[in-house]
Amino acid sequence: MSESTEKSRGQRLIEKLEYKSANAWEKIPDREKVFQFCDGYKAFLDKAKTEREYVKEAVLLAEKSGYENLDKIIAEELPLTTGDKIYRVVKNKAIVFAIIGKKPMENGTRMLGAHIDSPRLDLKQKPIFENTDMVFLKTHYYGGIKKYQWVTIPLSLHGVIIRKDGTSLEINIGESDDDPVFTITDLLPHLAKEQMEKKLGEAITGEGLNSLAGSIPYDDKDVKEKVKLNILSILHEKYDITEEDFLSAELELVPAFKAKDIGFDRSMIGSYGQDDRVSAYTSMMAIFHIDDPEYTSVCVLTDKEEIGSIGNTGAESRFLEDFLADLCYLTSKNYSDIVLRRCLNNSVMLSADVNAALDPNYEGTHDKLNAAYMGKGIAVLKYAGARGKAGASDAHAELFANVRKLFNENDVPWHSTELGAVDKGGGGTISRYVANLGVDVLDCGAPVLSMHSPFEVTSKVDVYSAYKGYKVFLKKYE
Ligand code: MN
Ligand code: MN
Repeated sequence: MSESTEKSRGQRLIEKLEYKSANAWEKIPDREKVFQFCDGYKAFLDKAKTEREYVKEAVLLAEKSGYENLDKIIAEELPLTTGDKIYRVVKNKAIVFAIIGKKPMENGTRMLGAHIDSPRLDLKQKPIFENTDMVFLKTHYYGGIKKYQWVTIPLSLHGVIIRKDGTSLEINIGESDDDPVFTITDLLPHLAKEQMEKKLGEAITGEGLNSLAGSIPYDDKDVKEKVKLNILSILHEKYDITEEDFLSAELELVPAFKAKDIGFDRSMIGSYGQDDRVSAYTSMMAIFHIDDPEYTSVCVLTDKEEIGSIGNTGAESRFLEDFLADLCYLTSKNYSDIVLRRCLNNSVMLSADVNAALDPNYEGTHDKLNAAYMGKGIAVLKYAGARGKAGASDAHAELFANVRKLFNENDVPWHSTELGAVDKGGGGTISRYVANLGVDVLDCGAPVLSMHSPFEVTSKVDVYSAYKGYKVFLKKYE
């Protein structure tokens, strides 16, 4: 007897009626493409661990892809026309790219928005102190971290110091193989009885996050803090700085390890800073890889999302609006504020930010029916927020319908998600700030495991799906 390959009536009906998300690896036949794209992504992650480094690397890539500095165009009083590719750097910490579309700005833009800041340990303005013949650097953590994850790992120091004469010094220590690194110590288990009885969130304190930075004394018996003096002397010799120069500095301690493949099948990526560089990189590549869009394409990469999108490099500021105002002005001969207002109200954005993937090690944090999963493509999030959708930019059903149709018609692997189970916590992205301008915004990005940890995990097929989805959106969203 041979088994019938015919599907039953019920099976056919299920296929027609039921919504099921699929494994994205089964939907993308060319796996080589996925792996290749992710090699570029990993290399970029290693080069751009801070928002400033991201902007610097992005400018190099943009100029290679034919993008020109908008502020240079303005200074030279040049016009902008269809097909022109431009970028603007905002205070060295945020960046916006655009390709002028065939339709006038008044008709709106198609935007991708992500953030390039990540949780980390910032050095305090007066960071250096000596204790028991060791020198430490005091930190103030940035963004939502679980403090216990940041001890006993190698840390590298990145950032900028503006010296008293105004000259700027870039710092990057701990990334090359022969560089020293920094680290925050933890108690040995044998003496940690009290610590181990504390709540996880209280066992390591913010003021306890002091990083080891030296232990050789300066050779002078008349000096009190010899180790500190020796470190200051090394810093002075090497970088021509004094202790006061730390006041006008922005220095960040980030994990020193590199992006790595995870698993026997190398299907995942482990790295610091994938929230939200996974979205920033895929959005940026999406705009770099398109030409002549119908609507003006924009990719905006913001700073300060992890601490509330405030400040003049954050999404709540007006830098995106100002950028669009410049485009309205430079592409139309009769600029008025109403052109910009119409442009904003006719614009659509995919807010590209990561989503919390369901972790089988932690049952109960997600509603399984509405969870984001690893390997199921882009996680589309209609709303985030917390406790009754508070603070959510709830995307309109009409917008969701358009994006759903677009992704389905163009074979972009995606699934519909929620940020964890109801009342388990919550969060937000830049979407609400952009929506406030009148723009229609929908959140969508790659799912991540161990989000905000020093070693976040993504699935390569999700990274590639995000890139594919963002590109399709810029090219084809009507
Ligand atoms: Mn994020
Ligand atoms: Mn985040």
